[in-house]
Amino acid sequence: MSKRQLAMVMDLNKCIGCQTCTVACKTQWTNRNGREYMYWNNVETYPGTGYPKNWMELGGGFDAAGDLQPGIIPNLEADYGVPWDYNYDALQGGASFEPNVEPTWGPNWDEDEGTGLFPQDNYFFYLPRICNHCTNPGCLSACPRDAIFKREQDGVVLVDLDRCQGYRYCIAGCPYKKIYFNPKISKSEKCILCFPRIEQGLPPACAQQCVGRIRFVGFLDDTEGQVHKLVNKYKVALGLRTDYGTQPNVYYVPPTESPAKFDANGKIIEGSTRLPIEELEKLFGTEVHQAIKTLKAEMKKRKETGESELMDILIAYQHSDMFRLDNNYYQQVAKESGRKPLALVDNRYVAGKFTKSGHEMNFFHGGHTGAVGGHH
Ligand code: SF4
Ligand code: SF4
Repeated sequence: MSKRQLAMVMDLNKCIGCQTCTVACKTQWTNRNGREYMYWNNVETYPGTGYPKNWMELGGGFDAAGDLQPGIIPNLEADYGVPWDYNYDALQGGASFEPNVEPTWGPNWDEDEGTGLFPQDNYFFYLPRICNHCTNPGCLSACPRDAIFKREQDGVVLVDLDRCQGYRYCIAGCPYKKIYFNPKISKSEKCILCFPRIEQGLPPACAQQCVGRIRFVGFLDDTEGQVHKLVNKYKVALGLRTDYGTQPNVYYVPPTESPAKFDANGKIIEGSTRLPIEELEKLFGTEVHQAIKTLKAEMKKRKETGESELMDILIAYQHSDMFRLDNNYYQQVAKESGRKPLALVDNRYVAGKFTKSGHEMNFFHGGHTGAVGGHH
């Protein structure tokens, strides 16, 4: 376990499936050099096959006794799909607009399909996924080379590429299949939670670009922070498939409301709901009942009284309400390890347990940085 844990909360009630997060991540980290097929951030339609195909059934993680479970390494072509491109140049010469490979599978092959019968009881919702930067990572346990490590300062899980030999045990060991094999360099690669951005005061690209403003980023032990409040105070943000035993640190506010079903005559079935609670239980455990109860109670309270801290947090009026990156802390860690602290690119999201105000930031910068949270 690391000294502190940086975590992300995603509010599934607000995700519109626009894939802006996916593109933000792809353009930042995985658009070339053997990473073309990788999606460190993907947004899948649930229920659906997911990415890679049927990832929930591929093993890995730990059993109740804490033993690592065997897992399957997905096939690059069949389970992830071969990325294709279009012949943009040939278009100018009048050629047809065709993919350069015959597409047979890819992420979101079944986007927006969901399940059920239209219009009676069909439903789906979006499930954005990144590496969970687990407290007990299956990838790390599975690696015989000790090439995967969890950063002491913030719990970010990283691959040491100098040590990695490309054995791929980590891929089998991760029950979320969020670590990928780079066939060009024969090494494993994964989401780095945009740590180089975070250390300079910028949220992860997926979170900052998120159109639905569904993503909150902060330290779990920062009791003033939104992440702590959603996870620990109100307990409305829950880990995904915690039964895999890796203690994930990406948390989800479950979908809370869904439309009623229609009968065969197209009439609303009063009191019915399309989204089966058993599905949410499968994803988020039995705590999902209390989480939904709390969310509904706070929504009601907000409607009746105009007051609800929880609803204010989830509405996320401004970016500085969503990200608390505690940059004094990072600067302190850098100094203690003999490194020069990185200059801040943005000072709007620096608040945290060890970063109370803009004034305190001056300690490290020797200049005026302005009041934290004062910019939108
Ligand atoms: S989600 Fe997978 S790759 Fe990420 S830390 Fe957990 S086990 Fe490792
Ligand atoms: S950018 Fe936000 S709203 Fe759009 S798909 Fe990603 S998580 Fe959902």
